[in-house]
Amino acid sequence: RQQERLGAVDAADRMIDLHKAYASYLREAESNPAGDEWARVTLGRDMVDFLRRGEKALDGARKALAHATANPNSAGDVILDAKQIRLMSPVPRPGALVSAGKNFSDHVAEMASKKGPGSPVAFLKLPGTVIGPEDDIPHPPEVKNLDYEVELAIIIGKPCIEVSEEEALDYVAGYSAFNDISARDIIRGENKTGIHLMGKSFPGFAPMGPYLVTPDEIPEPQNLKLKLSVNGETRQDSNLSYMIFKIREMIAYWSQMGLNPGDVLTTGTPRGVAAGRKPDQPPWWLKPDDVVEAEVEKIGRLRNRIVAE
Ligand code: MG
Repeated sequence: RQQERLGAVDAADRMIDLHKAYASYLREAESNPAGDEWARVTLGRDMVDFLRRGEKALDGARKALAHATANPNSAGDVILDAKQIRLMSPVPRPGALVSAGKNFSDHVAEMASKKGPGSPVAFLKLPGTVIGPEDDIPHPPEVKNLDYEVELAIIIGKPCIEVSEEEALDYVAGYSAFNDISARDIIRGENKTGIHLMGKSFPGFAPMGPYLVTPDEIPEPQNLKLKLSVNGETRQDSNLSYMIFKIREMIAYWSQMGLNPGDVLTTGTPRGVAAGRKPDQPPWWLKPDDVVEAEVEKIGRLRNRIVAE
């Protein structure tokens, strides 16, 4: 039977079960016989719950990881068998999923927009659209123009209200890779009113993962490379340094509406999407059986197959 668990990857690339590892740390290093219960209370029941618990949960996770690495033979299935697990998104159910639009000038140009916005713009994707790094993306039968967009996901780790650009990164729990799947024909129809929703939020339209990488491993996220390929053919190859509104500006700007632990911001995408193809070029729309791989430097790769719904 499948169970949703909180995990962390150790230096040897093994997946550690955080609850079990923290419980065994408490039992073995702190002689706490109620380790299991304490682990649940300290780490929370899922990722958003973990993030809400802030520094205490993170400290528990660090101790658990160090203990599991130093004691690989601890009792209780602390190290998970890679063949037995399937990675979910590190934040399977974000509180809010705020996705920047028109945030790379080369993408603004390919979408035939006259110029970029004067201040950050974004739309909401439904949190329920998030899927894991190896999950399939259903192709809705009514959609004709299915598209991809590699982006960085910024996961908020503290209540974040009216923060400055200088302090913005202090509110980040970590980073992940993201693919903003888009139904362009639906969005085009919706955009006639100036408001779009469903074209970005069909089931499975938000692959995110493979890990949440904490800021100690990525102190400067603004210069990471982004790459996306379809069936092995490179479509997007860029760098976050080309963002119009930078990561710090985005966090500061959207913090005006109040962000919470477990909320996710995405950066917008560079050029190379299927919607940017000219009419005389072979179309790049995603179709069933295509494999789309979205990769962010220092984080990893999402590999999702398009399947007929
Ligand atoms: Mg996007």
